[in-house]
Amino acid sequence: MGNLIILGSQWGDEGKGKLVDLLAEQFDFIVRFQGGHNAGHTILIGDRKFVLKLIPSGILRPGKIAVIGNGLVIDPVALFAEIDQLTQVGVDAQARLRISNRAHVLLPAHRAMEKRIAIGTTSRGIGPCYEDKAARRGLRVADLIDPQRFVEHFDALAKEHEAMLTAFGIEPDYDLDEVRSQYLDLGARMRPMVCDTALLLNRAIRDGKKVLFEGAQATMLDLDHGTYPFVTSSSASAGGACTGSGVAPTLIGGIIGVAKAYITRVGGGPFPTEMLGEEGEEIRRRGNEFGSVTGRPRRCGWFDAPLLRYTATINHFDTLVITKLDVLDHLDRIPICTEYHGLDEMPALCGVLGGIDPVYECLPGWQTDTSQVKSWDGLPPAARRYIDYLEKQCEVEVGCISMGPERNQTIVKPGSNFEKLTV
Ligand code: GDP
Repeated sequence: MGNLIILGSQWGDEGKGKLVDLLAEQFDFIVRFQGGHNAGHTILIGDRKFVLKLIPSGILRPGKIAVIGNGLVIDPVALFAEIDQLTQVGVDAQARLRISNRAHVLLPAHRAMEKRIAIGTTSRGIGPCYEDKAARRGLRVADLIDPQRFVEHFDALAKEHEAMLTAFGIEPDYDLDEVRSQYLDLGARMRPMVCDTALLLNRAIRDGKKVLFEGAQATMLDLDHGTYPFVTSSSASAGGACTGSGVAPTLIGGIIGVAKAYITRVGGGPFPTEMLGEEGEEIRRRGNEFGSVTGRPRRCGWFDAPLLRYTATINHFDTLVITKLDVLDHLDRIPICTEYHGLDEMPALCGVLGGIDPVYECLPGWQTDTSQVKSWDGLPPAARRYIDYLEKQCEVEVGCISMGPERNQTIVKPGSNFEKLTV
């Protein structure tokens, strides 16, 4: 078994958190490589629900090291809120978390600046923090943990932010002196967890340790490959795992894509297979499709195979995990989009994608509860046919199926790449 990357293959919220939690057992390090506390994985263990935004889901597995890689932007206030929450339920997060000294630090000014962006973002300041990173004026964790450097850098950056906020006509909703002193305290608290995580991971791999890369968001939200400008501000596809962690592509043993048995999207942007009306409402209700970070209702649609073929190409998935199959248990027929009429590639322009005509194939539903099924052969024949059809349409094997939020509501297909990659 090699080092694995787990990625969202749609518009996010595919259930990556559950899969990472499930697989983490077999790995030594679990690494987040992009995004910030705008992500949000929900993991259900028994009757306990954990929503992790910045800290890799692997932290819930005792003894595992969770790494926040260089590709992230970190709001220290949000980070410590999460650490404290985990500590309260007995998870020794602080002892098992390592933070890259090259990750960027998110400030209240970034949040204030996001007020001018209207594409349905989470308003956490993630985009403006990445803007500072790209503009090469950002404040990094290495600065934050050095009090003198921090004060100099913070004060200089605050002047630039003030000028920008004035230009945007935005009134700052924070007190600079309070922020400076709060961040100095949090920097001191963070210091014992900070290191060169690229070095840590590369040494660990050299010594035979195994690393699991935990994607947040998804390829259709990737800054380069997603439905720009309705995207996140980081690299949420396979390449991002390498740049965001400092681990080379040649050290990656496999790439697993996660897709829902249908599809959802939060916020604005084109959505060819969106179900408007009662059908969409029903899926939203059954799938509990409300954002884990913002609580916003997610837009729901039928499985989009052309989209999956596109994200499979970008990431070269070895195998697909289909989640939330149980959410479709009630349907007597299930449409699947097999192509975009007259188009044989993913259009670069949102206007074109928004106007396409999806071509559907309808498969019979199974109208049976799948949530307790324990094996591939135990699935209703119509559910197996649905999965086989998705596999054929996506041109990637489906190696694992999830029919509920619990760890044991998961089926691995015997002989699949998924089995080979994870055993
Ligand atoms: P992530 O960001 O990709 O990890 O996805 P989220 O955590 O935002 O959303 C996944 C949600 O679906 C969580 O509440 C999970 O507990 C839940 N979930 C995961 N897999 C399944 C499944 O197979 N069936 C059902 N019904 N819920 C699932």
